[in-house]
Amino acid sequence: MDFLLSDDQRNLQEAIGKFAREKIAPVAEKLDKEAKFPTALFHELAGTGITSIPFAEEWGGMGLGTFETALALEQVARADQSLAVGTMVSIATGLTLQRFGSDAQKKKFLPDIVSGKKICSIAGTEPQAGSDTAGFTTRARKHGDTWILNGEKAWITNSGTDISSFALVLAVTSPPEEKKKSFTLFLIPKGTKGYTVGKSYNKMGWKSSDTHPLYFEDCELGPENIVGEVDKGRLLLHKGYQQARVFLSICSVGLAQASLDVAVSYATERKAFGATIGKLQLIQKMVADICVKVETARMIVYKAAWLADKGLASGKDLGIAKYYATEIGNECANLALQVHGGFGFMDECPASRYVRDNRVCTIGDGSSQIQTLLIARELGLDVQF
Ligand SMILES: Cc1cc2nc3c(=O)[nH]c(=O)nc-3n(C[C@H](O)[C@H](O)[C@H](O)COP(=O)(O)OP(=O)(O)OC[C@H]3O[C@@H](n4cnc5c(N)ncnc54)[C@H](O)[C@@H]3O)c2cc1C
Repeated sequence: MDFLLSDDQRNLQEAIGKFAREKIAPVAEKLDKEAKFPTALFHELAGTGITSIPFAEEWGGMGLGTFETALALEQVARADQSLAVGTMVSIATGLTLQRFGSDAQKKKFLPDIVSGKKICSIAGTEPQAGSDTAGFTTRARKHGDTWILNGEKAWITNSGTDISSFALVLAVTSPPEEKKKSFTLFLIPKGTKGYTVGKSYNKMGWKSSDTHPLYFEDCELGPENIVGEVDKGRLLLHKGYQQARVFLSICSVGLAQASLDVAVSYATERKAFGATIGKLQLIQKMVADICVKVETARMIVYKAAWLADKGLASGKDLGIAKYYATEIGNECANLALQVHGGFGFMDECPASRYVRDNRVCTIGDGSSQIQTLLIARELGLDVQF
């Protein structure tokens, strides 16, 4: 087993890390306050090539893997998890299109996603159902060659920016009288008649990541909007979410590392009882605990990414990565806040932003509860979903 990165992987990690430290970290607090997707900064970030890493060269990509993408996203998340999340959602959605879309769809939409000129979203969740995808009710009815879509999606990342290109939207396509629902994945470009992006949500974290409800009212779609096969969309969405799971996990690792960075730094500056607090053993314990959690989570997520690239990642591997990394993200951010004392509770303390930002990571993209069920199921236990 070789834990060393190749020269190319290390160069990629260092290049993105340098950009993240110099261009993103200094403005992360300002972005959090402005609560608006930073298009210009995203374009600069895309200039590093990050959005192209896992895509085929045919579409302008680097032809690399999940692992290299994770290495890069970790660096961005260490500077600002909000920006890393917007970036990773667009990459994961683009990868779903690359894998299941038609040549015409890829030709039309992928190059702009790969270059980072535009971003895109994947829309599953609805106001009444998230984990329970069978509870989705957004429906497309067939009329000859066209489909008429009606319904609503909730909390959709990347959907309302000035560079949002399209959303992959999951809709029921089986007739209402059929007991078992079938779903189809539709590619819906922003601006399509009958497709409206609602008002931005006020969120406790991920403030500069763009999140909106989507409304569909008699939205007319054709065969060119269908991704993959009719009635097979739920599986495609689940597969898309699986890769996103590695990316979201690494976003938590990046934030956990940032928590360690600020905890060490504060512990060596802040004085109490005549010495820096880093000399107090209970502070050392908190810092060491963060360090152990970060290292453990990083190894688990790197392993999941590596297995994914070999086509060997099981639901258990991905579930463990998502469950562990996102949970320790919360723990590390909280410990870092504690090291900062009262200052930790102030908005200008990065640790307080880390607490707010990471909080959603154990909820989105398959909550911690859902991940534990997936792990238990692969262990042979009869799981009630
Ligand atoms: C900022 C943000 C961005 C998001 N971006 C997107 C996006 O881009 N695209 C998208 O499709 N969605 C997105 N989501 C939605 C997110 O994926 C869902 O919130 C998530 O899947 C959970 O669904 P829910 O909120 O409906 O919770 P529910 O499914 O209602 O769950 C409520 C609680 O019950 C638990 N629970 C549910 N089922 C079980 C079970 N069987 N056993 C035990 N416990 C269970 C859950 O873990 C949770 O604690 C986003 C959400 C947020 C907050």
